[in-house]
Amino acid sequence: MDKEEIVRLLQARGKEQETLFEKARALRHQYFGNKAIVRGVIEITDACRMNCEYCPMRRDNKGKRYVMSPEQIIDAAKAIRDYGIKAVFLQGGETPITTKTVGEAIPRIRDLFDNDVEVLLCLGDKSREEYEFLKKQGADNYILKHETSGPELHFRMRHVALDSRLRCLRDLLDLGYRVGIGTIIGLPGQTIESIAKDILLPKELGTHMTSASPLIPAPDSPLANYAAGDVGTTLNTIALMRIVNPGLLIPSVSALEKLQKDGQVRGLNAGANVITVNFTPDRERNAYRIYGKERYVVKHDYAVKTLERAGLG
Ligand code: SF4
Repeated sequence: MDKEEIVRLLQARGKEQETLFEKARALRHQYFGNKAIVRGVIEITDACRMNCEYCPMRRDNKGKRYVMSPEQIIDAAKAIRDYGIKAVFLQGGETPITTKTVGEAIPRIRDLFDNDVEVLLCLGDKSREEYEFLKKQGADNYILKHETSGPELHFRMRHVALDSRLRCLRDLLDLGYRVGIGTIIGLPGQTIESIAKDILLPKELGTHMTSASPLIPAPDSPLANYAAGDVGTTLNTIALMRIVNPGLLIPSVSALEKLQKDGQVRGLNAGANVITVNFTPDRERNAYRIYGKERYVVKHDYAVKTLERAGLG
């Protein structure tokens, strides 16, 4: 599928959109059967040295930040194990301290699961040496969302060059990580052509996962008064990501549910095949302000029901 066709289908609505979703589901079924992946996420810190325009965890927002200790991380990982989930996802703001705390926690998480676990990290840009260290400690996947592949828009939203993130992605791939990227739909000034580039990027880079999330205009962020990302365009992006990269893992994100009831079922019905259950301890979860205080928190029972409703196991 070429870029022109992607641009056209990103705008599909009505019957044409349903046909797009059907095609995406058929490809998912061909590659993965009726099984989805369930991950357990622990949000290990809300400290961040970055200042992204769409994020309330940006450094300009002063106030107390938390960093979970290795012991706290292990305790939360025990709950993930007790639910029978075998993918532990450690996510947090971009701060150098996580290299140490997470590096210490990973071998203990592996022991907890008798090594029968996947460890995913989403901790932002780090040096190649830090990525190498975390890999040696036992991490096998790294999610580093590129947010937007438009260099000018990227710089306007994140105040760093897209190239620095691409450098990190290339290091991660080179070190043997399974790597995920991801885009935000609805950033101010984003064009449909730019979203088409995001859909083609996993192929260009050789990543293993990709994602699309609608912009949530979060309180305490410079984009607080902007419009939310369009759910229909986000669903079309998911479907096209599946069609262009049929073998990739693609999550149905909680931001979809925040914007629209049944949003995550719709994400799965558009071709996604991953759902993430939140295991952050209450105190830290309430402090973690990724979409503001009113974000949608995915619990285990809800995730199971959501998968059932989408016909997935
Ligand atoms: Fe930090 Fe990530 Fe928020 Fe940017 S989006 S400010 S890197 S936590």
